Amino acid sequence: MNERLSSEQLMQLEDKYGAHNYHPLPVVLAKGEGALVWDVEGNEYFDFLSAYSAVNQGHCHPRIIKAMVDQASKMTLTSRAFFNDSLGVYEKYVTEYFGYEKVLPMNTGAEADETALKLCRKWAYLKKGVPENQAKIIVCEGNFHGRTITVVSMSSDPDSYGGFGPFTPGFVKIPYNDLTALSKALEDPNVAGFLVEPIQGEAGVFVPDEGYLSKAAAMCKEKNVLFIADEVQTGIARTGKLLACDHENVRPDILILGKAISGGVYPVSAVLADDHIMLCIKPGEHGSTFGGNPVAARVAMEALEVVKDEKLAERAEYLGKIFREEMASVKSDMIALVRGKGLLNAVVIRPKNGKEAWDVCVKMKENGVLAKPTHGDIIRFAPPLVITEGQLREAIGRIKKSILAFE
Ligand code: PLP
Repeated sequence: MNERLSSEQLMQLEDKYGAHNYHPLPVVLAKGEGALVWDVEGNEYFDFLSAYSAVNQGHCHPRIIKAMVDQASKMTLTSRAFFNDSLGVYEKYVTEYFGYEKVLPMNTGAEADETALKLCRKWAYLKKGVPENQAKIIVCEGNFHGRTITVVSMSSDPDSYGGFGPFTPGFVKIPYNDLTALSKALEDPNVAGFLVEPIQGEAGVFVPDEGYLSKAAAMCKEKNVLFIADEVQTGIARTGKLLACDHENVRPDILILGKAISGGVYPVSAVLADDHIMLCIKPGEHGSTFGGNPVAARVAMEALEVVKDEKLAERAEYLGKIFREEMASVKSDMIALVRGKGLLNAVVIRPKNGKEAWDVCVKMKENGVLAKPTHGDIIRFAPPLVITEGQLREAIGRIKKSILAFE
C-alpha cells in the first residue's frame, strides 16, 4: 500500500498524525544501500547524515542484516528474567573489543547515558563515600546526551529543556573545553563524575583543543572522580579511531556507546566499565525489558566485526582529510568555517542574501546530497564510513555546486 503513496502524501500523513517534534528535510526515503539512499519516487541521494552517525557501516549492510534475520527467525526476546544463548557471547565479545571488564546493555543512547549517571552516583555512595543524595556530576555547556527529563536537566539548550521542568538536581555545568573551570569544579568533594562528549556532535561538531581530554581525564583521576565519555555519536570509527578518546589515548572509567554499535540496524546501546564500578549495581537495581536481547546481541557483534574487517576507522581518517581540504578550498563567503575529525565534520554557514544553512541543505537535496542543519547555521556532514573515495569526491562536487549556487 505504501508503495503507491507519493512523497507529498507521505509527508502529509506524518504532519497530520505524527507529533511535530521534528522538522525534517522534505525528502521521503524508501531504500538504502551503503552510502546511497533513494526516495519513494526513485531519486538517488548520498546520505551525509547517516541517521546521526548510526549508519556508519552503510545502509543495509548485508552481513548485519543477515545476522539480524537469522537471529530474528529463532528468538527475539526473552527479557533478562531468563538467560539467552546470545547475551553472554556478546558480553564477552564487546568487553574484549573495547577493553573493559563488564558491559551493561541498553537500547538507546539516552538510556545508556541515564545508566552511566546512575552507575556513577551508586559508585559515589558505595565506593567514594559521598554522603547519600549529595553526589554531583559535572557536565559541559552545549552538551547533547538525549531527551529524557534527567538528560535535559543537564542541557544548556533552551530548545531541549525549556518548558520541561522541574529538573533533576545534582549537575554542575561548566564551559566545554575549559580545564580551568573543570579544575575549579573538581574541588568539590561530592563530585562523583565528569560526563563529556569527546567532540560535541549535536552542538555542531565542536572539537576541543588537543590535550583537553587527556588532561581532563588525569585531573579526574587525581580527584577520584569518574571520567565518563559519551561516545554515542563519536564512537565506532566515526572520527577516524575506534573511539574519539583514542586520539588522546584516554580510557574512560565509564564508556557510553549507542547508534553505530548496531550499524543503525537495531536500537542497541551499551555502558562499559570495570568491575569495581559496574558491580556497584546489584540485581533489581537497574534494567530494561529489551536491553541485551538476542537480536541486539547478534546484530551488534556483526556490526562491530564489520568495523574491523572493513577498516572503517582508517577509512574515516583518510576520507575525512579529503573532505575538509576540499571544503576549505571552496571560494564562497558563505563558508565561515570547516571543522571536524574523521568523517564527523561541520561547515558553519554565513547567511547571504537571506539564504541560510537550511536553504543550502534544500539545494543540496536537489543536487542529490542529504544533510541537515543544526542550530540554524551549521551543517553536519557525516556520510556512512563505507563511502568510497570516488563517491565522496562526487558528493563533494555536488555540495560545492549547491553552495556556489548562492553566489
Ligand atoms: N549522546 C550523544 C552524544 C548523542 O549524540 C545522542 C544522539 O544524538 C544521544 C546521546 C542520544 O541517543 P538516542 O537518540 O539514541 O537516545
